Amino acid sequence: MMEVSSRTPGNFIGGTWECEASEWMESINPANGEILAHLPKSSRHTAQRAIAVASQAQRSWEKTTAWERADLCRRLADAVDAAAQHLGRVISLDQGKPRQQAEGEVSKAADGLRLAADLGKYLTGETIPTETPGRLVMTVRRPRGVYAVITPWNFPVNIPVEYLAPAIATGNSVVWVPAPSTSLVAVEFMAVLEKAGLPAGVVNLVLGEGPVVGDEIVSNPGTAAVGFTGSAATGRRIAERAAGKPLLLELGGNGPLIVRADADLAKAAEAAALGAFSNAGQICAATGRVLADKRIAAQLGELISEHARAHVLGDPLHQGTTMGPLNNQDVLEKTRAHVEGAIRAGASCITGGRSRSDLGSELFFEPTVLLDVDPGMDVARYETFGPVVPILALEGDGELMETAQDSDYGLSMGIFSEDLGKAMAMATQLRAGIVNINERSNYWELHIPFGGGSRTQSGVGRIGGRHTMEAMTEIATVTLPLERFE
Ligand code: NAD
Repeated sequence: MMEVSSRTPGNFIGGTWECEASEWMESINPANGEILAHLPKSSRHTAQRAIAVASQAQRSWEKTTAWERADLCRRLADAVDAAAQHLGRVISLDQGKPRQQAEGEVSKAADGLRLAADLGKYLTGETIPTETPGRLVMTVRRPRGVYAVITPWNFPVNIPVEYLAPAIATGNSVVWVPAPSTSLVAVEFMAVLEKAGLPAGVVNLVLGEGPVVGDEIVSNPGTAAVGFTGSAATGRRIAERAAGKPLLLELGGNGPLIVRADADLAKAAEAAALGAFSNAGQICAATGRVLADKRIAAQLGELISEHARAHVLGDPLHQGTTMGPLNNQDVLEKTRAHVEGAIRAGASCITGGRSRSDLGSELFFEPTVLLDVDPGMDVARYETFGPVVPILALEGDGELMETAQDSDYGLSMGIFSEDLGKAMAMATQLRAGIVNINERSNYWELHIPFGGGSRTQSGVGRIGGRHTMEAMTEIATVTLPLERFE
């Protein structure tokens, strides 16, 4: 086992680390298959205990002022910044992204904590005029209670912070179940929050399998609401199991980058490559398909391939590596099946297309560009979540728009065109949470609303800045008859 942690990793419940379990799961370095740690595969009973502890802690946590909670968020942010190198290294080892990108993720998490500190102070209610004379009617925002938070492995620090920071700042408590394949990161991150003075029970970490401990925290009546980021299939299951609770569901995408014939092709190619290859394509807002006007599709393919070939695939800890391995076998198998299926059905692979076990693990997958892709191929229809750019050559705006919308997903999209009026008209019609014009599909900042479009499978609700804070609080109305005076 490689030395990553100074502690035996375990659950963190009520401010105490617990390391006993009857079943264990392995934390594996995707770059070489090495076992990094053994982690508890917790039972439903452990999750139930964490909910009870979180519920008790929440009752006193909500009595603190927004200013006290903001101070804590700032202290946590400073501690996260100070631990950036350590956390970055653990992310690289456990998740697989290159060291510099991993440290960037940690720094964004610190920003998220500071943003919540700022916004928590300015969450206000309102006073409402009444038909009845002599009434004062006002609303206040109050925390919901215990939040069930379940997170995926692609951004194992950033995505949890999207829920944890606003929850802490608004007076909620949390039971957090991270993805098994990056649970070691969760342990190290939690340890940083603990050392910075997180009060006992405000955030509780329970490690284990989603269908067991994740299901427990979602369905248990002791949790008031759910924050979930992950696949559409799991999101649907969670919506059923959490029936009646407020939900934030941040699910999958298969974002198109639409490239009109009048686009600046060099910029469009750069955006496509950034959108599709960052984090080895393991981003919900990744460019999952490039929809190009057929007059420029081949040229665009060549330009994107130049970016693909410039990537350095290798050990995430090596200086100079720009793309690490995929995180796990399931993603590799889906990526491989999508690429090989497309080639069998007539697509041409202009670069990449294979896994590189010579680099230490078959999870290394070359950045890939496919031409002559048909809308019916799996690589175009479904989310790949790997470093693949399928290019579809289409005829004019009508076909570009129709194909963009012909998807179960609607998370984030991009349009490249020099005709801003046309691009704007297209953007406002597309069914997606965010459409970026002349920009990569995955551009986003922490305070910008982000989420799935209605009538799609990309999720429910909006995260980002005040939008998450509002979702994590509820409006309570208070009315008062006023006394008459002479
Ligand atoms: P996943 O749905 O398989 O797992 C996500 C989490 O849910 C994990 O922690 C898992 O243990 C847990 N889980 C699994 N089954 C569960 C159940 N029955 N009950 C409760 N929890 C359960 O997804 P993944 O493969 O880890 O993540 C990749 C997916 O996440 C992609 O589809 C990606 O697009 C999506 N994603 C979305 C966003 C967003 O903001 N919209 C961000 C990142 C990732």
